[in-house]
Amino acid sequence: MSVSVNKRVSVPSAVEDIGILALGGTKKGLPAGFRSRAVSNAEEGFDVIVVLAPIDNQQLAAARSTARNWLAPILDFSGNHRLMADFWDVQLTSASLEEGLLACLPILQRMARLPRLTDGPDRKALCMLGMAYTRATKLEAQLCADRKAGVHYHLLDGLGATHEILDELYTAGLLSRRFFDRTHLCDVCGSSRLNVREVCEGCTSSDVATVSIIHHYRCGHQAPESDFTGTGNNQLHCPKCREQLRHLGVDYSRPGQSFVCNACDERMSDPQISFACMECYGETAADRAETRSWYHYELTSDGEQALMDGQLSHNGLQHMISALQQASSPERFVVVFEQLMSVSKRYKRDLTVGTMQLVDLEAFREEVGSRAAHEALKELSSLVSEVLRETDLLTVVDGHLLLMALPETSISVFYRVEERIREGLVSRAANALQYEFKEATGDEAAQLVREVLQA
Ligand SMILES: [Zn+2]
Ligand SMILES: [Zn+2]
Ligand SMILES: [Zn+2]
Repeated sequence: MSVSVNKRVSVPSAVEDIGILALGGTKKGLPAGFRSRAVSNAEEGFDVIVVLAPIDNQQLAAARSTARNWLAPILDFSGNHRLMADFWDVQLTSASLEEGLLACLPILQRMARLPRLTDGPDRKALCMLGMAYTRATKLEAQLCADRKAGVHYHLLDGLGATHEILDELYTAGLLSRRFFDRTHLCDVCGSSRLNVREVCEGCTSSDVATVSIIHHYRCGHQAPESDFTGTGNNQLHCPKCREQLRHLGVDYSRPGQSFVCNACDERMSDPQISFACMECYGETAADRAETRSWYHYELTSDGEQALMDGQLSHNGLQHMISALQQASSPERFVVVFEQLMSVSKRYKRDLTVGTMQLVDLEAFREEVGSRAAHEALKELSSLVSEVLRETDLLTVVDGHLLLMALPETSISVFYRVEERIREGLVSRAANALQYEFKEATGDEAAQLVREVLQA
């Protein structure tokens, strides 16, 4: 098993050592005592960003990308509320800057515990986890009219579309979540900037008016009020039986409202609800519109661990098992197994090979959901680590088969190992997992290893 050592980020331990990048101006815009610890351009490396004048999110994102660390704290003295900032004040003075830098120290200290976030497929996701970790806070969703999605995470500004990644991180157990709100989506462009209104079911015009309904008791006729006021003299006459309606509650009632389209005259009891997209002007009927659920997120201990590891390879059995003491690569398994085999033959010692094949892992994931599946596989790997001895050999083949070799173990003892795994899984909510054991000794053991590894 290889152990990779991640390079940590060195950060200042005192306010005097904090390197500053001034944005929206030059370092001359900083109070005199702070200019010497400011860099002239982003490439020189800095610890915090101090915003001097209004800038936009793109400028800030560009500066953060060149920083030694995307997670660098941001201090805003420009009154620009739209920027993500860890500290802000309306006035930039020696005192307020000193206070701001002091407030950033805990963030810098937490950054120091993390490996450098390198460019790779997981970088964005790690930045998200890293923001939650270094700010020691939740990732809160909020409604935002500025965004096409209608919802945004202030702390994740500059990281682009975050919805899918957050969802993946939740599924992998790296974030927990709490429901926030649901948005509707334009089925043309996906925007949630939608104008919601009632439209005519005949011609889809939104020029729909509500009208009061009148019910004439004597003849039972029921129609919009305008049908009863045809004479124009404020009196109500039934259009069906011609009788005059005098007293509300005696001659007639007003049972409710109806709708009439001013464009085509269509009458309807329930107009349709429709969304007009403010982005593409497309029209989406409410009953056709897709919805998206939004959540507040919180870092889990697994998420923190992934962050410390600097990688997210969290999904498979492979990853979980490879963290176990007994685990090795299939290549190394073969080498060590051959040694064990020759010792076993020469000295007539017991050696048992066993496999545990997980059957249709994909169907299992679909059945219980990927989060529960992840938990079940974690249970399995910790169970395996408990029942195997330090001297036993273990590897994962194709992500769904555990191959084990147990020196000094007879086949009947291995049956007990199988039994303990079975019992453990039943008691650990992983009982929906389907699997098959196989076991062999002697030449059959070598045959089984060859079969499994196709070597
Ligand atoms: Zn649209
Ligand atoms: Zn109409
Ligand atoms: Zn009538």
